[in-house]
Amino acid sequence: MATPCVYCDSRVERHDPVYVRDAGDDEERAFCNYTCLAAHIDEAALTTGACCEWPPG
Ligand SMILES: [Zn+2]
Repeated sequence: MATPCVYCDSRVERHDPVYVRDAGDDEERAFCNYTCLAAHIDEAALTTGACCEWPPG
């Protein structure tokens, strides 16, 4: 079964896949590797604004 990378749409099986599941997600989301995961997070943070604001301390 081919799983597309959330970020670049490649088949993750051809790389070193990373699977993540956010709270509220029904399904795991697949990424080729940590590079695609990090890039996706960067883009998501840019488009959604302050979602990565962690409380200090
Ligand atoms: Zn990818």
